[in-house]
Amino acid sequence: MSLTKYREKRNFSTSPEPEGKADQKKSESDPIFVVQKHRATQLHYDFRLEHNGTLLSWAVPKGPSLDPSVKRLAMQVEDHPIEYAQFEGTIPKGEYGGGTVMVWDIGTWTPEQPDVDAALKKGDLKFTLHGKKLHGSWVLVRTRGFGGSSKPTWLLIKHRDKYASDVDVTAAKPKSAISNRLLADIAKANGGDVEEAATGDPQPPSSKTKKTKPKKQLAKTARAR
Ligand code: MN
Repeated sequence: MSLTKYREKRNFSTSPEPEGKADQKKSESDPIFVVQKHRATQLHYDFRLEHNGTLLSWAVPKGPSLDPSVKRLAMQVEDHPIEYAQFEGTIPKGEYGGGTVMVWDIGTWTPEQPDVDAALKKGDLKFTLHGKKLHGSWVLVRTRGFGGSSKPTWLLIKHRDKYASDVDVTAAKPKSAISNRLLADIAKANGGDVEEAATGDPQPPSSKTKKTKPKKQLAKTARAR
């Protein structure tokens, strides 16, 4: 796997994102997984699995769901360098993915099939997550794609096990798994757009009662995106 696409999209003299070492060997320890909450043009969650020296990556607009009846759209994107798993900060506006990035969950993963490459080729990858927020058995299934999208489209689904739940985990656990910060805190610490980052954080309960009608509509629009 190659980081060519990853590097082509980015300007490392401007962005604090890691460039990635040339050839990462397959690590001896358990492969890592990371979910990064990313307030870019649109809020989304980047789901990444370490495999063969890179992070296989999917953009999940609504983030993972613990409810096995919920299928979450996951668009496969370019492989990312292993070092990216630790990246939490601000990508400058105007750069690719400009906005605030949070390490929302991190841990290791175990494939449930002996041949990961064959499973990926088939478009049906079953795996177990050992994270701080996400646990148990999951599957990524490739679909035929939506609306002529050129990116391979997958669905991220929780399997039924003791970790399945109807708790909305992205709302219940909104903070960073490595720094316990909200998006707004991360933006503030890195000179990012705090107000924009805060739109991806839980809204304070008081704002619901205080808000006037037009503001309510704005909030609804922001959530729908
Ligand atoms: Mn992203």
